[in-house]
Amino acid sequence: MPEDPALSLPEPPPPAAGAPAGGQPVLDALPDPFLLLRPERGVAGTITDFICTYANGEACRLHGHQPERIVGARLRDLHPSHCAGDLFEHGLRAFEAGQTVAVPAPGRPGEAPGAPRALRLFPAGGWLCCLWSGASEPADLRRRLSELERRHHLLAGHASDLVIEVDADHRILWVSESVQKLLGWSPPALVGRPAMAFVHSDDRCRALRTGLGPRDRGRFEGELRIRRADDGWCSMGGSVRPAPEGSGGAWVLCLRDIQDRVTIRAELDHSQHHDTVTGLAVRHVALGRIREALDRQAGTGSMLAVLSIGVDGLTPVNDALTHAGGDQLIAFLAGRIVRAIGEPDRVGRGTGDEFIVLLSDLASAAEAAHRAERILTACRAPITIGGQPIDPTVSIGIATSAAGALPDELLRDASLAMRQAKARGRNCFALLDDALATEAHTRLLFAAEIQRGLVMEEFAAWFMPIVCFETGEVTGYEALARWVRPDGIEVGPAEFLPCAERRGLIVRIDRLVLRQALVTLSRLPDELTMAVNVSAATLAQPDHPQLVAEALEAAGVSPERLHLEVTETALVTVTERIRQQIQQLAGRGIRWYVDDFGTGYSSISHLRDLPIAGLKLDRSFTSAMRAKDTKTLRLSQALVGVAEGLELDTVAEGVETIEEARLLTSQGWLHGQGWFYGKAAPLEP
Ligand code: C2E
Ligand code: CA
Ligand code: CA
Repeated sequence: MPEDPALSLPEPPPPAAGAPAGGQPVLDALPDPFLLLRPERGVAGTITDFICTYANGEACRLHGHQPERIVGARLRDLHPSHCAGDLFEHGLRAFEAGQTVAVPAPGRPGEAPGAPRALRLFPAGGWLCCLWSGASEPADLRRRLSELERRHHLLAGHASDLVIEVDADHRILWVSESVQKLLGWSPPALVGRPAMAFVHSDDRCRALRTGLGPRDRGRFEGELRIRRADDGWCSMGGSVRPAPEGSGGAWVLCLRDIQDRVTIRAELDHSQHHDTVTGLAVRHVALGRIREALDRQAGTGSMLAVLSIGVDGLTPVNDALTHAGGDQLIAFLAGRIVRAIGEPDRVGRGTGDEFIVLLSDLASAAEAAHRAERILTACRAPITIGGQPIDPTVSIGIATSAAGALPDELLRDASLAMRQAKARGRNCFALLDDALATEAHTRLLFAAEIQRGLVMEEFAAWFMPIVCFETGEVTGYEALARWVRPDGIEVGPAEFLPCAERRGLIVRIDRLVLRQALVTLSRLPDELTMAVNVSAATLAQPDHPQLVAEALEAAGVSPERLHLEVTETALVTVTERIRQQIQQLAGRGIRWYVDDFGTGYSSISHLRDLPIAGLKLDRSFTSAMRAKDTKTLRLSQALVGVAEGLELDTVAEGVETIEEARLLTSQGWLHGQGWFYGKAAPLEP
């Protein structure tokens, strides 16, 4: 690069030889002649000449030619040696040494006064540049300069972008006139002031981090709120770049008004979270707030209540005044409820005609009832809609929180209570009644009990034999979860699984059963297999394949001996990731079985697309066969046919008698399990 900073011009894009001059605004505006040349090389690669690829207007004037005649011409031809020494030699020297070479440029005979007096040759990015200096008289230069300035003001004043040059301390050195129109500031009032004083305090860190930091000299792609002269804020986005060298500044900020975009986005965001009729938070937002309040309340001893408020008699209003009238009534009541509660954020819109109110920090349920009474009174005042007088009323259900309650359960309980209030004659409130409350309480206690049982290791895997119909020999076992409580009562999965699933405890149970089942399998003869149930929640765990592999390794059991059972219904919802997990385990040799086959949705396509090794006919088929149901018989025959066609293993469940075993065998079922062969029990090898 040339050492003279004034010559640090932006590198031109490589112009093709013979490309027309012009089209380089910065170079075209130079008051001095300028040529850009590319080296021409001989066979040996040595430079034989330089060919002109670009000439600015002044260069054309100097040479008295049209651009077409200069572009493509050789340096030797443009400047015969008798005029300016051997220009080619100077150019070659500059090009090869990578330095600027200055040579006197006496001009040509007959040239006009004011012709250039010095010529500088320097290389730039594989090109040779020729720049004459002293071409113009000072007056002429001044005229050109003021012309440039005028154009610049025209551009800066009318451009919609805001351009700000700041120094290394972020003080404003220069700001475009557009600041007046965009933000209402007059440019001189800003010069010398810290730029950050105009950035919203919440955005300053980001502005410094992403754009103006010393290291990341690059684009600032974010949004900044910039202070307007009227003390409001304008959202702007744009870029930050290092200022051109020699300009005295450190950064140039180029910002654009994106307020419209930001406003539209905010409106869109608002509409996703707020009901259009009332402006209240929609159900999922209200649920989120209940969740947050429950988290805050945990351990404080205070009470929280959720109110479900239903509009009484909305249907006749809709019928008489159309839905628009109904919406007006809902909007009126929303306003009344918000005023009665005093905090809009505590009120949300549920489904249909339901409002949701969240009350926290209550001393007792009576306090919730007192607030409900206030809402009832506020809603009761008559209104006129579409010229029709209406006496609106609402019914309110109240559910108070107990430790460990879930938001949607609270809301559901409140809705149940609201329906009770309606059943009691409307225009009143109801607390979740005793029976409902007891049930809800029991549910909660039960979840806590399961959790305790897991901690106390009261859960265990019991084993049910699976036999080969043909030989009657046990080929393996299915591990089934059992909960033996401290009082000795055995609790079956039917009782605890629904609750464990709702509370996300099923994954822990599945892991426990898997581990125990594999330890037991490791003590059984090598030819026996172990079937383990996998719930949909467990199947969806990203670390499931890893946990299975670890359990197999810990027990020292070969993967082919493990059968994983997953229900047809769980298979319907598999995502691509889960599919890959299933494949991954199958790839290790583990065999997948479809459980409760015949009861879920059609899964024939899954049988083809997933690595399924076998089917387990649901117990309901066997019991229907017991009752000689011919349709079931035909269906079971068809299902075994499907399995045979796909070369899958088959297991018929729920075999309780020898007749059933014979019938299933005659249909072609290969394996069976059921009380006829043995109930689930602990297995001591
Ligand atoms: P399943 O996987 O279809 O297991 C078979 C169920 O049918 C077992 O009930 C078993 O005791 C019962 N059964 C087997 N043969 C007969 C029979 O001849 N007659 C009658 N009446 N019943 C029979 P169980 O142990 O109550 O398990 C119920 C369901 O709970 C299982 O159905 C399975 O879906 C689920 N389950 C059991 N253990 C686990 C587990 O560890 N994890 C998961 N995710 N689910 C499990
Ligand atoms: Ca099963
Ligand atoms: Ca089953």
